[in-house]
Amino acid sequence: MTVPQRLYAECREEEEFLMKESTKSVAKAKKERLFRSTEHAGVRISAEQQQASEDFAQAYIRFLNASKTERETVKNAVSLLEEKGFVPFVPGMTLQPGDKIYVNNRGKAVIAAVIGTAPITEGVRLCAAHIDSPRIDMKQNPQYEDSELALFKTHYYGGIKKYQWTAIPLALHGVVVKADGTSVEVHIGESAEDPVFCVTDLLPHLASAQMKRPSNELVRGEELNLLVGSMPFNQDEESEQVKLNILHLLFEKYGITETDFLSAELEAVPAFPAKELGFDRSMIGGYGHDDRVCAYPALRALLDCEKPVHTAVTILTDKEETGSDGNTGLCSAYLPYFLEDLADCFGAKGRHVMHASQCLSADVNAAFDPTFPDVMERNNCACLNHGVCVTKFTGARGKSGTSDASAEFVGTVRRLLDAGDVVWQTGELGKVDAGGGGTVAAYIANLDIDTIDVGVPVLSMHAPFEVVSKLDVYMTYRAFCVFLAS
Ligand code: MN
Ligand code: MN
Repeated sequence: MTVPQRLYAECREEEEFLMKESTKSVAKAKKERLFRSTEHAGVRISAEQQQASEDFAQAYIRFLNASKTERETVKNAVSLLEEKGFVPFVPGMTLQPGDKIYVNNRGKAVIAAVIGTAPITEGVRLCAAHIDSPRIDMKQNPQYEDSELALFKTHYYGGIKKYQWTAIPLALHGVVVKADGTSVEVHIGESAEDPVFCVTDLLPHLASAQMKRPSNELVRGEELNLLVGSMPFNQDEESEQVKLNILHLLFEKYGITETDFLSAELEAVPAFPAKELGFDRSMIGGYGHDDRVCAYPALRALLDCEKPVHTAVTILTDKEETGSDGNTGLCSAYLPYFLEDLADCFGAKGRHVMHASQCLSADVNAAFDPTFPDVMERNNCACLNHGVCVTKFTGARGKSGTSDASAEFVGTVRRLLDAGDVVWQTGELGKVDAGGGGTVAAYIANLDIDTIDVGVPVLSMHAPFEVVSKLDVYMTYRAFCVFLAS
């Protein structure tokens, strides 16, 4: 009997049984067998899984609160990797199954791997997430005084709705490289006793002209000025006393002068911590879920991976939000160089390893928002709590800019997730021609690696406060575990 014939025979048998027993209608039984099921993960998982999801969420919240920038994420990831016995990769080193290695790319990106039992020519299993998030960067000459207020000029990073970043507490994170080459880390606005900063907005009473601007100009780029002080240095007749006072304080604390800002990277990020959200605490609200909500599960899945079949690799990359260019972004050669060096260790060719490799591009997708239903097509959008989202293609205007995973690779991933009892769904980034977007998937696929987007659905993506569901985060971790172990 062919498969359809067998399925048909089974259906007939079940129909006859049901008609005799009359426990459920024939139509109901047929639907259960033939329809795609779309159920809330909460009704599909066991109490043990529920608890595991809760524990994972708490660990994720702690990681997220300590990792608000790409540099901090790399630092925290490397310390977790070293705790688990990962050592810096040295080209040419001898590697055995179970060996754990990592590469720290300039403190802004990291690649880590556990060597598998299969020959390297059978490819690696790669999870790739990004650890940069939309934020407000300081310009190279940031500081000025106007009307006895000290302010920093900024240039926003990534795709933001600029008005969302006004009138909220912001913290400053980053690094200043001084004239003598030494550097100092800045981390201010996170602890309870720290001061914070903000971008001011116009009061509604006087905003009638502002409110008539097109909404993408409601707050303009050059209006994202960070308020950093208001007290003069002393009572001398000198001008710019407020700016002087700030520079005086910065010199006292960090030993830096105004010129040192030229060689600094200072990022303003929301100053509030991630929190459980909802009366039922089923969600997590916080800054930077995109894409640490995939980066953390990808990292944890690798940390928990002992002796995989294929070499398991997690890459946490930078610069995705500005298009992946630069030597810490995935348009650069640092990933293929690593895979080539890894292949060399086994006397193999990098391109043969890449050709046989598989990748989950671990990035978030948009979750359906009932307040804004018009941008989604209900049959093909991700919903909160329906599990990890598999996205076959991204792109815009007729799939431009997507790598579009093959049906065969989607089939492979589908079988893997089902066998691993992972709750998953599919979702497109909005309805056709509503907009669109991309991830690092295309850049990895361009290396001749089978790649598909897999990640967490998010509400209010790119806002200072994004929302995810705990169950979806946990299912994303589970998906990466079964993939890396395969
Ligand atoms: Mn992303
Ligand atoms: Mn993004």
